Amino acid sequence: MQPGRINTETSSACYMCGKQGKIVYRNLADRLFGAPGEWTSKKCTDADCGIVWLDPRPTIDEIGKAYQNYYTHDQTNQRNKHG
Ligand SMILES: [Zn+2]
Repeated sequence: MQPGRINTETSSACYMCGKQGKIVYRNLADRLFGAPGEWTSKKCTDADCGIVWLDPRPTIDEIGKAYQNYYTHDQTNQRNKHG
């Protein structure tokens, strides 16, 4: 495990219907998970499905870690800290 990195897994196929996704956004910043690195967003090629996901995506364990970072982000903003 490397500190400061999020473990990811490749997810080129739709997790709902299994079809291959096409890239809709590349090199996304970490707006979704507050995670380091860049993410590619893919969209399902099935018109009836059409969901969007991240590829690679954080593993289940890492999603918890990423959300922890996300929620503590504002709380660490201490304006009145001495020093
Ligand atoms: Zn799909």
